[in-house]
Amino acid sequence: MKNVAAWQCEFCHRKVHMNKTHMAKHEFVCFHNPRRKACQTCDNHIVEWDEEYTGHRFGEATYSGPIKIDYCEAKETTLDKIPRWKQCECKEWKPKESTLWARKRNSGACKS
Ligand SMILES: [Zn+2]
Repeated sequence: MKNVAAWQCEFCHRKVHMNKTHMAKHEFVCFHNPRRKACQTCDNHIVEWDEEYTGHRFGEATYSGPIKIDYCEAKETTLDKIPRWKQCECKEWKPKESTLWARKRNSGACKS
């Protein structure tokens, strides 16, 4: 095993690349980048947990545990009903106060 240096996405903190250019490309399109105005950084995005029975549509009752429901308060629908490409550059987008970007902006560190 070998320890290597890599680049991590500063928005989603999940994506890691060995190549800096590849990471820059990812950050540009990352849904957690507030500049994309995607659901992940939007104040209208609500996450709810529900208990689901996977088989309920087919008349079975197989408990599958809690499921995550991503909901858009502005569009009044769940995110799985909105195509991925429509989940960014949204007109209803407003910054989530919990995002690092919003905190920086509010403290005046990101004045443009
Ligand atoms: Zn990312």
